Amino acid sequence: MRKALFLDRDGVINIDHGYVGRIEEFEFVEGVLDLIRKAQQRGYLPIVVTNQSGIGRGYYSEEDFKRLSDWMIDEMRQNGIVIDRSHIFFCPHRPDAGCDCRKPEPGMFLEAKDRFGIDMAASWMIGDKPSDIEAARRAGVGHTYLARKNEKIELKDLHGF
Ligand SMILES: [Mg+2]
Repeated sequence: MRKALFLDRDGVINIDHGYVGRIEEFEFVEGVLDLIRKAQQRGYLPIVVTNQSGIGRGYYSEEDFKRLSDWMIDEMRQNGIVIDRSHIFFCPHRPDAGCDCRKPEPGMFLEAKDRFGIDMAASWMIGDKPSDIEAARRAGVGHTYLARKNEKIELKDLHGF
């Protein structure tokens, strides 16, 4: 079984301006590509778990999201990270949809667990909202870190990583 580094997207990977749906609005948080690459070198599979209610609200389309994800993946690869579309999990629903994927529901984490055979107890989640942390805990993720929105995170911040 593999251990994973689960990452929220907005506010952790990219600057959260609110409903970032297009490439021109996407700006990586300082140092995050280094962080992901270093974690991968230490055996963690990077997995993105992101609420994208902007799709359900009609602010941008699922196609926009996928185009942006492909661009993000390409940037990550150019920075030495091994990642593809199968590592990106997103919830497109509105908060009132009652789905089981929107965080704090654990659905996206459980789907990733099934897809990759993840050792959840040995895995980490980095989020910038309590709902990120709650979702991870409900899915059995052993270690969590609540980051400050849009701020640089270093591996040394993750005690016991
Ligand atoms: Mg966030």
